[in-house]
Amino acid sequence: MNRVYNFSAGPSMLPIEVLEKASKEMTNYNNTGMSVMEMSHRSAAYQDIIDTAEKTLREIMNIPDNYKVLFLQGGASTQFAMIPLNLLTGSKKADYVNTGAWSKKAIAEAKKYGEVNVVASSEDKTFTYIPELDKETFTKDADYFHITSNNTIYGTKFNELPDVGDVPIVADMSSNILSEEVDVNKYGVIYAGAQKNMGPAGVTVVIIREDLIGDPQDITPTMLKYKTHSDKGSMFNTPPTYSIYVAGMVFEWIKELGGIGAIQKRNEEKAKLIYDYLDSSKLFKGTVAQKDRSLMNIPFVLPTDELNAEFIKEAADRGMVNLKGHRTVGGMRASIYNAMPLEGVKKLVDFMKEFEENNK
Ligand SMILES: *Cc1c(COP(=O)(O)O)cnc(C)c1O
Repeated sequence: MNRVYNFSAGPSMLPIEVLEKASKEMTNYNNTGMSVMEMSHRSAAYQDIIDTAEKTLREIMNIPDNYKVLFLQGGASTQFAMIPLNLLTGSKKADYVNTGAWSKKAIAEAKKYGEVNVVASSEDKTFTYIPELDKETFTKDADYFHITSNNTIYGTKFNELPDVGDVPIVADMSSNILSEEVDVNKYGVIYAGAQKNMGPAGVTVVIIREDLIGDPQDITPTMLKYKTHSDKGSMFNTPPTYSIYVAGMVFEWIKELGGIGAIQKRNEEKAKLIYDYLDSSKLFKGTVAQKDRSLMNIPFVLPTDELNAEFIKEAADRGMVNLKGHRTVGGMRASIYNAMPLEGVKKLVDFMKEFEENNK
């Protein structure tokens, strides 16, 4: 069977060039006579892999020297607890914006360790927009301000950061890290599970300003302290070695394509193809407020459940898979992360046109 265009929200497509390189190196990495999977994380060969991955990530994201890059386990979901445990140490208050299921999980977890102020929510309209933020409602002495920068399930993203003064912004960037340029200086912490835009599941990248690492709550387990991992270069215990190796190749792939600016252009072009068609179609409908549209996850619906099901089935027959929307939104969702080629998006839009023509 040929490779398909995989529109999954995550784990999702990886660049074919990276998969082919991994496959070539599968049984014998760089004349070590072994797979990266079989390699001691304390070996010189592996140290070079993790160092190079970090260096390349720093380069493509332009990460300043006063930020640490950590390669952790436990997914973004573990960060929902690590963030409050490590950062709720001053006023023990934090502000959160509720823009969907992932925000809600982050909020529920933070409530166990301090006082959470939900400053805005878009739950009234099934999270189809990013709510207006009013500075007056922010907690002046909050330890941090949390956002989910891209909402994977609903297809919204923050295009503007809130004006929080000196309060550090913490962003769950799981589904849009590396998709567009960001100024890391504007954040206290950026975290993301790898399996959407960086590599295989198993590694979680945390980019954290050094002054936020120091002083976790007393109850914090050793493995959940940023300091534990930061002091040991993400090698306190065995890191997810193979996932880091593949992520490193993805960072390299981005660098060779011209960096994140170049990727962003590609992503904007890909998303525009779908959004322009949705805006002109009489049959398909986008579900998100135009100003808040994500570049990565694009939900859309047909007038009936029968048509949705028919579209998903026919698309799969044509080699376009995992287009079913999240159960809370229904319809379809096309996740078009960095690794989705332009041809995949063109093929999807061509099929949407054909489907509309046949269902007038
Ligand atoms: C997928 C996702 C998560 C959950 O990530 P895990 O790595 O599975 O814990 C959290 N936040 C966002 C925005 C996501 O897209």
